[in-house]
Formats: sequence, C-alpha cells, structure tokens
Amino acid sequence: MPSAFLRRRELSLVLLLYLLLCCLNHAFGADASTKLRQPVPTNVVVLTFDDSVKSHFTVARPLLKKLGFHATFFITEGFDFPTNKQDYMTWEEIRQLHDDGFEIGNHTRDHMGITAKSVGKVREQLEAINERCRAHGIPVPVSLAYPGNAFHVDALPILESMGIRYARRGGSPEYTYEEGGGVAYEPGRDHPLLIPSAGDGRPNWSLVDFTKALGRARAGSIPVLQFHGVPDRAHPWVNTPTEQFVSYMTYLKTNNYAVLALRDLERYVGTDTKPANPQAVIDERIKQRGRGSSTRSRCVSPPATGGSDKLRVTDQCSRTFGPRLLSRSASEHKATLVQLDCARPAVPAAGHRPAPRSRMALESRISTGGTARSSIENPKS
Ligand SMILES: [Zn+2]
Repeated sequence: MPSAFLRRRELSLVLLLYLLLCCLNHAFGADASTKLRQPVPTNVVVLTFDDSVKSHFTVARPLLKKLGFHATFFITEGFDFPTNKQDYMTWEEIRQLHDDGFEIGNHTRDHMGITAKSVGKVREQLEAINERCRAHGIPVPVSLAYPGNAFHVDALPILESMGIRYARRGGSPEYTYEEGGGVAYEPGRDHPLLIPSAGDGRPNWSLVDFTKALGRARAGSIPVLQFHGVPDRAHPWVNTPTEQFVSYMTYLKTNNYAVLALRDLERYVGTDTKPANPQAVIDERIKQRGRGSSTRSRCVSPPATGGSDKLRVTDQCSRTFGPRLLSRSASEHKATLVQLDCARPAVPAAGHRPAPRSRMALESRISTGGTARSSIENPKS
C-alpha cells in the first residue's frame, strides 16, 4: 500500500532525525536530560574565592568592580579568622562585598572537610555561617564550596534541604589536588551540587596555566575557577601573587569574557537538571583520563620570574595554544594594564614559602605551621 509505505518512510525519517539529535547532544557534552534555559555562550567563566582572605577585599574587590566582573566569595570562620584580622576579612567587609553585588557563599564555620565521617556535622557547620549572614544583613547563601575540596555524596540531600543550589568541588578526583587542574562544568552531566573546578590557582601558575584552565571548556560547558588569596599570606601553597591575578583578569577583559558568580549559573541551567547518578560522569572522566594519559601532551610552564618571561611557553604549549594568540594576548594584556591603571608591582606575601610538592609535605606544614587551628577533617584550603 502506498500510504503505508509513506507512513513507514516518515517514521524512518523521524527516527533518523531523533538519532542525529542524540548524537549532536552527546557530541556537545550533554546527556538527553539536559534542559538549558539559554545556550551557554563561548566566553563565559565563573570566578570563586575561598577562605575569607583579606586580599579578597583589598585587592580583588576594587579590580573586579572596575572591570564589571561578578564573583562568589566563600566564607569560613576557620583557621584564625576570629583573631587574625590582618589576613582575614571582618564581617563588615564581607557585608560590603554583598552590598557591591558580589555573591557570598558558604564554606562551613570551621573549614570542615565533608567526608563520610563528618557528614553528620554539615547542617550545624552551614547554619553557623547562615546565622552570621542573617546578623549582618546578607542573604542566606545558596552556594557552597567544599572545604579542602573534600566532598561526599551523602551530603547532597542535606545541602538541598538547606537551600544550597550550587556547590563547587575541586578538580579531584579527576585530577589530584597537587596538580591544581580540573575539568569544566557540564550542565546536566555534572550534578549542580558537585560542580568541578576547571583550575585551582597556584603560586607557580602563569598566564599559560590560566588560559589552559579556561581552555578546558568545550561548547556548552563552563569553566569554574577557584582562587584563594591574591595574595594569600596565611595559605602560601595556594597563594596567587597580585600581579598574576591582575594579568588573569586583564586577559578575561581583553577577550570579552562574561565573568559570573556561581549563583549566576541559574541563567543557563536550573538545579532540577541533574543526573540520576552524580558519580557517573566523574567515573567516566577518570576512565577516559586513564586511557589518554600516556599520550596526553603536557605543557610545562616556565618559572614565574616576572615580566615577559611569564608569557614564554614551551614548544609543546605553543602548539597547543598557538604562539600568535599568546603574543597578541601579551601585548593586549600590557595595553589593558596601563589603561586600567593596574600595572602596579606585585604585593609580595610576607613569609612566603614555596608550594609543597606533596600532600604529606602540605599536611606536615599545616600541622606545624599553626595556621589551621580550627580546621577539621580536611585542613587543605
Ligand atoms: Zn577553603
């Protein structure tokens, strides 16, 4: 029958179109359940700052305001926050960040790593920061950063019940803590309460490392960057020198990035868009990374000795990023620095020590350095 033949043909076409759409969806890194509110533009990045560091107020705030950037500041009263007002913000300063339009996020009262053992204390830890926010006229946070980047899936229902909509972890377990690397957030594939960091700023980062973190985003994914102090005297292993930070922000401005706070993800993806198995995408990436690690090209940044040396790259990196792009960025970068009147010398971190090479070294430093008084479970920043 011709009509039956036509119906079969139409059905085949519909099936073919459906399969094509599924393939395209997969190619762009989202699963079939992803429902974006609007397409994610190419040049978008989320900026986050952890640990209530003084330089968030004195250095990051004026620069971000000048550039028109948004950001999230994750607040903890851990370490020696209550007594050391030279290295940590006051609540009045945190309130000022909120008044400026920045997002204030929760980083737990005691900088408590969220593990199987500590998950029972999560509610109390978050509520303490919520209460401080209420007392200072700051809305109760809807975003969380896991202290020490330690997370446990048992905490997810607790976070949801406390109104946390987005939670940022580190680059681990896909990358080790020491690497400071990570992956871009893939809306729909990543659970909104397990958003990975695409990069975790370190003292030896150069502009190449920064652009490498940005470059981890593919179509439809968003790089979420993690910083601590800029500079950070109390946590030198995650210090970002001021001059370096200015160069990163200048790069974002020069390249027309939309710079967002974590809560701004709401524009693109609702918190109802989440995978059934939060761990699945993480396991898949680890498997893929294991398969690709032997052939992965490694870019070794030159030592950050100052000036134009910071923009020198190895031959391998030139091939990866394109020397033309880097040289153009370097000149534009300098021009914008002058334009923004930000070309001040770096503020050296007093008592700065080189970043420890291993977790053991890091933990040994913390246990002997006296900087992690009230940090429990997982003392890393
Ligand atoms: Zn922290």
